[in-house]
Amino acid sequence: MSKANAESFLGSVNRNFDKAATYTELPKGILEQIKVCNAVYEMKFPVRIGDEIQVIHAFRAQHSHHRLPTKGGIRYNEHVDKEEVEALAALMTYKCAIVDVPFGGAKGGVKINPKLYSEYQLERITRRYTTELIRKNFIGPGIDVPAPDYGTGSREMAWIYDTYLSFRGGDIDAAGCVTGKPINQNGIRGRTEATGRGVYYGLRELCDTAEAMKRVGLPLGIAGKTVVIQGLGNVGSYTGSIMQLEGKARIIAVSEYEGAIYREEGIDFEELLRYRASNKGSIIGFPGTTALSSREAALELECDILVPAALENQITEENAPRVKAKIIGEAANGPVTSGAEEILLKKGVLIVPDMYLNAGGVTVSYFEWLKNLSHMRFGRMEKRFDSNTYSNFVGLIEKLTQQSIGEREREFLTRGADEIDLVRSGLEETMVTSFQQIWETFRQNPKIDGLRSAAFVTALDKISNDYANLGIFP
Ligand code: NAD
Repeated sequence: MSKANAESFLGSVNRNFDKAATYTELPKGILEQIKVCNAVYEMKFPVRIGDEIQVIHAFRAQHSHHRLPTKGGIRYNEHVDKEEVEALAALMTYKCAIVDVPFGGAKGGVKINPKLYSEYQLERITRRYTTELIRKNFIGPGIDVPAPDYGTGSREMAWIYDTYLSFRGGDIDAAGCVTGKPINQNGIRGRTEATGRGVYYGLRELCDTAEAMKRVGLPLGIAGKTVVIQGLGNVGSYTGSIMQLEGKARIIAVSEYEGAIYREEGIDFEELLRYRASNKGSIIGFPGTTALSSREAALELECDILVPAALENQITEENAPRVKAKIIGEAANGPVTSGAEEILLKKGVLIVPDMYLNAGGVTVSYFEWLKNLSHMRFGRMEKRFDSNTYSNFVGLIEKLTQQSIGEREREFLTRGADEIDLVRSGLEETMVTSFQQIWETFRQNPKIDGLRSAAFVTALDKISNDYANLGIFP
């Protein structure tokens, strides 16, 4: 991705915003305040790498302070720049509003290629970046709470937490300064899979909506739908696994950095992930599949659902005319440019927008933050109580019917919920409810051109309400 592309990513987000704004009756000044990025901290700091000192360039953008703390991932990528971080922070604001997570949007970026550094060097960079954020008051459980994004994961979040703790040891809520932490360091079960699982719930909901399937000429239900996935990182790998295992969808092609593979009958996704791990990180040569001419070729295959889960600006005005998918599920942030969207909408493609579809990560990050502030794991208070109550019910039914229930059924019926059950249930509820809000907005306003504009309209409505409640706008 070139710098020009990154700039057009921000342009794309803003163009989408402006288009959606025309469907609302909000005054110009309010729209302008919602659209602008409130604060950006651009930093350069030295880190010793081997025998030399390297100057690292990094950012943290806080797009909107209408709710606090602000929230958003940290990306490690050599193409990171100010506009990209601002675009991603803006998407976070709209995303949080759509799924009713009470945060403003933020995003961080460190301009490095993490593959070129050792684990020790990455730790030094991460800790120094965190120190910069602490110095400028750009991090804290009530200020701004980072999370993983492209190129980062729970390991980096643990370093951030530990660095924060060493500066703010007396802060009883310190664990809430970052989410996506390892479970044994105040993380939450289900966070790693959350974005992919949310993508699955969102697409399943769309496929279960009769009117939506009628529009694209497909049968109801996600089972049997042909799927192409771009990117096998955190988001793409969980999306693919869950779509196949729980949704019974058929994944016919996968694209990664090293190339793309295809199999009409469907690829065993779990096997593929294992193969890649044992094959020097390459999917090429996976038994039973054919290699495509390029990694981009996968985006142009005939399929029901295309899931870009890598980076922004993957479907542009150049390749959009050749895209044959009926549904595009934006697991990544900004994979379809605004120019490409115009072409795809004219072709009748349903685009499920990033700001809704990949909101599972921030939703479960919200649960993690709540867990950190309450200092207690979910389910601890009620699990035994629920289990005993269900047990009493089962006993009563047995007594009334004079029939005994088998051991396996009893275990199933009398189980109290664990943390992972509650997290998944909260995530499913969030994705289903938010989908219905967006779909209703879309359905009730025939002028609205697609689900992205509908998602924007629901976000703008909620954010402007927040400002009104704060007494800032009339
Ligand atoms: P990741 O670093 O874990 O994985 C990204 C994968 O995409 C890598 O395996 C990379 O090799 C691959 N890739 C890069 N360019 C490619 C290309 N041109 N073709 C095919 N594959 C390519 O990152 P991630 O955390 O999975 O994030 C992916 C996207 O999802 C990003 O846009 C990110 O902002 C978004 N997102 C992530 C989260 C999260 O919780 N991690 C939450 C919301 C949104």
